[in-house]
Parts: sequence; structure tokens; C-alpha cells
Amino acid sequence: MARLDQAHPLDLAGEWFVDTRCIDCDVARQWAPGLIEADGDGLSYLARQPRTAEEEAALWRAAEACPTQSIGNRSVRRPAEPAFPHELTPGVLAMGHNDRSSFGAHSYLVVRPEGNLLVDSPRHLRSLAERVDALGGVAHVLLSHRDDVADAERWADRYGARVWIHAAEADAAPFATDVVDGTDPIEVAAGVVLVPVPGHTRGSVAFHVADRWLFTGDSLHWNPRRRRLDVFPRQTWYSWDRLADSMDALAGLSVEWVFPGHGMWGEVGASTYAEQMPALGPDMRRIGRSAWHGRPQLR
Ligand code: SF4
Repeated sequence: MARLDQAHPLDLAGEWFVDTRCIDCDVARQWAPGLIEADGDGLSYLARQPRTAEEEAALWRAAEACPTQSIGNRSVRRPAEPAFPHELTPGVLAMGHNDRSSFGAHSYLVVRPEGNLLVDSPRHLRSLAERVDALGGVAHVLLSHRDDVADAERWADRYGARVWIHAAEADAAPFATDVVDGTDPIEVAAGVVLVPVPGHTRGSVAFHVADRWLFTGDSLHWNPRRRRLDVFPRQTWYSWDRLADSMDALAGLSVEWVFPGHGMWGEVGASTYAEQMPALGPDMRRIGRSAWHGRPQLR
């Protein structure tokens, strides 16, 4: 529960507030842009009170996603419909309830007749699990890398799901049923291809689903400010050069939507993806990691 006694001093007066236990994971600002913003230290504060029902719904989503439960209100009635799972596009739902142990990483449920996929893991809450039950449960838990495991074991146990992870990350998920090694893509279920993308960590992988959705962990995200597919230089723990190679490997895929663990998801569009991705790896090598943030607007 959000702490009114620790409300951020910049919170605009009104029903909603953000407390100062924030860890600057950016999630709230992604769900409620313009309503929640960052101060000079990266802490979120309530920049504007909601004016419409949709803005209030956005704040409820931010509140339910926030890993520190820092977003609250004084007396707004909770909606009858829970904020999550929240459909981003037909077949892909954001799970919200981002876990602090994964620094607030996003997770997703892909609903499909062949068996649902849980990509990375939200907190395991009974109320959320009951909604996943109603959507058909989970057949496969797909782990992008070691940082975003969170409550994956509890989700897998609930449904008897198979759990996939790369061998280089397997110590973070000893409960995994399927450990994949090597650098070649492998089909792990019908229409689901695991693509090794070392860089952020040594065993990071992406999951390419239904030939149009790409779940990228912390390897690739949509940068709305630059309107570009982008990488995180400061969070590249393993190798910038290997990450550039991995971007080359992803460039040949057919992708309409990108769903990252951190950063913004987005309907990139197949043509934008095909236009931008072949340049990303070469740009990374040319500009370098240390200059990446300050680079001028690219083509
Ligand atoms: S989701 Fe919570 S912890 Fe993350 S930036 Fe927003 S208020 Fe801070």
C-alpha cells in the first residue's frame, strides 16, 4: 500500500499521490505518461491529477504494476475490473504486478489455443492467478534471462508448465525443465522460437512468437522519444560487441510488436522493424557504448 506519510513533495495536490519509496524503474511513467514524471533524482511524482476516466484507469494500471506499491490515492473507489492482465494487442496481455527482485521488469501472457505462454514473471498473487486460470493457465514459462525470474517457479508449479532458459542463466532457475545451450535459434513450441541474444547477459534470449511478436527481455526496446528500436548501454552487463552481433541476428526476423522486460513495448510495424534493425548493430559498433546515449538523432 502506498504511504501517504511518505508522499513525494512534488506531488500535485489532489486524490492521487506517489510516495518516495520509488526505485526509478520507469514502469509507472510508461503506464501513465504525463501523469507521473521523474524528478531530478529519478523518483516518480504525481505531475498531474487525472481528468478523464481513461487517465484514471492509467493510474490504476501504474499502481498495480509498481513494484514498490508507491502509487496510491486518498479515497478513489477501486474499479470492479482489475487492471491486469491488460490486453496490449489481441493475444498478448501485460501481466503488471512487476516484481522488485527483477527491478520492475514487465512480463506478458500470450494466449493461444496451443497453450498459453508466460514470458518472464510477475509477482505471484492469488487474484492474478485466478484470472490466468480463467484464460487457460500457462503451458510454457519463457525466461529471457537471469534478472527477470521473479516468481516463475510458483507460476510453473501452479500449472505444471515447462520452463525454458538458456544454460548460461540456468543457475538462476534451478527449477527449469528445459535448458537450452548454444547460439542457434530453436523452436521450443509450435510457433515459438528461442533466439539466443548474448549481450545484456551471456545467456539472454529473445522469443519470437507467431512470426510477428518479439519478446526481448532487456536486450531491445522501443524508444518512444527517438522513435527507434534501441538498446540499454549502461545495463549491458556482458558485452556490447556481442549485443551488437545479437541485434544483427534479430534483424532478419519478421516483427510487428516488440515486448521488452524494461523499457517501452510498442507496435513498431513490420516495415519500421525491417528498416531500423539492420542498422542497429552496425551503429552500435560505429558509435560505441560510451557515446551511445549522447548520439545525435540517427537516420
Ligand atoms: S513503478 Fe513505482 S518504483 Fe517504478 S518508477 Fe514508478 S513509482 Fe517508482
